Amino acid sequence: HDKNLYLERYPTYQVNRSLQAWDAADEYLVNYLSEQALLNSKLTILVFNDNFGALSLNLTEHRVFAISDSFISHQGLKHNAEQNHLSLDEVKLLSSLDKLPAEPDLVLYKIPKSNSLLKEQLAQLRQVVSANTIFIAADKAKNIQSSTLKVFASYLGTTTTSLAVKKARLVFCQLDNKVQAANEQQFSQTKHWLLEQNSLDITNYANVFARDKLDIGARVFIDHLPTLSADSSKKIIDLGCGNGVIGLSVLNTAPQCQIHFVDESYMAVQSAKENVEHNFPDSFKHCQFSVDDCLTNIEENNVDIVLCNPPFHQQNATTDHIAWQMFNDSFKVLKKGGELRIVGNRQLGYHIKLKRIFGNCKLIASNKKFVILSAIKR
Ligand code: SAM
Repeated sequence: HDKNLYLERYPTYQVNRSLQAWDAADEYLVNYLSEQALLNSKLTILVFNDNFGALSLNLTEHRVFAISDSFISHQGLKHNAEQNHLSLDEVKLLSSLDKLPAEPDLVLYKIPKSNSLLKEQLAQLRQVVSANTIFIAADKAKNIQSSTLKVFASYLGTTTTSLAVKKARLVFCQLDNKVQAANEQQFSQTKHWLLEQNSLDITNYANVFARDKLDIGARVFIDHLPTLSADSSKKIIDLGCGNGVIGLSVLNTAPQCQIHFVDESYMAVQSAKENVEHNFPDSFKHCQFSVDDCLTNIEENNVDIVLCNPPFHQQNATTDHIAWQMFNDSFKVLKKGGELRIVGNRQLGYHIKLKRIFGNCKLIASNKKFVILSAIKR
């Protein structure tokens, strides 16, 4: 690297610190840019899906727009900028729902895990690129299938790839089918389906978890939510809300509840918001919607119930630090007597964590695959 950055994953206390904050694809891309002398004048650069700043922080002398659906990636970028004493004056953080700036000189594109997010971002991108825009994508070679390359070719234009270096590969697109593409009907990756249990109409933006159909864990969870009276106005958090199916199921029996939907994905929070507005317009005014890293910015000792179907991946890394932080944060925001109720894969052993944090844990229901657990803040 030109800059010799010191980069950390975020949040920084993760147990498995051997995981790197950058990968061989980031390295390849940064080296390629300097070898090809592509950065010799000041450029407007769009950087998509940068994890913790590995790309953006090498480019702080340029006008950078760092586009991500992940609040945590943005937080990680800010953290690493601070660690390396880099100014972010010229770096603008955009969510995946923000409008893209027109006519960038250079687009650096880390290929996301979600194929629908890939298509959505390329569709947005081709609206703003010019014939002079240079487009380079990067990923681990094993993630770049011929089907992936077809997506690039159909959205942007003639697509070629580099040799693999340290098992990473670059993808180059010539942006030559822009006119043709502009004539096509814009195909959005947003999906709609009906939640059968309660006939709710669910909208899912491109990067939302279980965008195609209800998650099997969530299905079990919905059948074992805390019992609430129809006029209950309890304060409830749907933590890691995704499209909001859990909180929406609560509103279906207790529409007066004050539900706070929280997720680290901008597209998830936006989906949940639209789903409440559409299915429960009368409840909308007493619901809240926040992008956050777990419950970092939520008031302590204030809520009656936290409901959570925790994730067990961060990007491609399998880790349980997120569930751990979610349970600790839940303890912090619950009132005395408040309840955390979760669904989890049986073999993840979440009851051990809950017992350690809350001093108690009750099995509410189980099947072959999942357990529903409850812990009370005493
Ligand atoms: N509640 C939805 C459901 O049951 O279908 C989604 C559950 S999904 C297993 C976990 C959710 O947690 C994802 O939407 C993911 O974006 C979110 N998430 C992951 N890490 C997070 C974090 N640090 N803070 C908040 N949400 C996070």
